[in-house]
Amino acid sequence: MEIEDAVRHLAEIGWFHIEYSFNHISRATEKCWKTRLKSLRETCLSLNVKAWQLHSPLSLNLANFNQKEREKDLKTASRWLEYCQILDVPYMVIHPGGSQGYRSLKERNKIIELNVESFKRLGRVAEDLGVKLVIENMLADSKCGGRRFLGEHIYEILEIIEAVGSPSIGICFDTSHANALNLDIPEAIHECGRLLWATHISDNDGSGDQHRLPYNGNIDWISVIKALKSIGYQNLLALEIPGETVKPIIVRDMKLKYAKEVLSWLLNQYS
Ligand SMILES: [Zn+2]
Repeated sequence: MEIEDAVRHLAEIGWFHIEYSFNHISRATEKCWKTRLKSLRETCLSLNVKAWQLHSPLSLNLANFNQKEREKDLKTASRWLEYCQILDVPYMVIHPGGSQGYRSLKERNKIIELNVESFKRLGRVAEDLGVKLVIENMLADSKCGGRRFLGEHIYEILEIIEAVGSPSIGICFDTSHANALNLDIPEAIHECGRLLWATHISDNDGSGDQHRLPYNGNIDWISVIKALKSIGYQNLLALEIPGETVKPIIVRDMKLKYAKEVLSWLLNQYS
């Protein structure tokens, strides 16, 4: 589906609070991006749909040791912040730089240093545009070749944010990544505290990054919602559930109906 059709379809089946995926937005910005994004914003307004989060491209690496490639990614990230401004999306989700992983303290320090430098620059761009960046907690993938990966723990993201010192940078908490790493999820949410501005909500059985619906894995959702409520989280619970994708749209809609029932029940436990 094109992004406009997806938004319309979601509104028809009662979903009004969304995150834009990077693949939808990449496709929508291939040509005449300003006009297309402005019209998408109008479409959302007319449907009463609010996009809270926009996911920046997964290919960005803000701590690339190759300076030329890092500069290119910084330019792309700045452009995507502009997309957020045009679309009236308050939060842009971004991964911490360092997807190459590290094998020594020296490399880890270098990755931290490059992240701080990159986020200082992006923080200023975000501030000027009136949007906010949210750094997502990660899960090492195959690109890392078994190396250590920066940003799996909340304290590592906090280390970057504190060193950057920008009021425009917070955290996006991904429950699936945290669960696959066997983190203490409620405690991780408390570690985010007032810097938690965005979420990726999904479940897995702990063996990998499956991104399924809540209760299709082993996360204790009651304790997750309790932690979110206790830190006063008010923003979007963005279901990030590519693990539930099936071909027929009608079956996807059935899953979304079920998702809504499960989430309403869950939220009512603490209303
Ligand atoms: Zn995520």
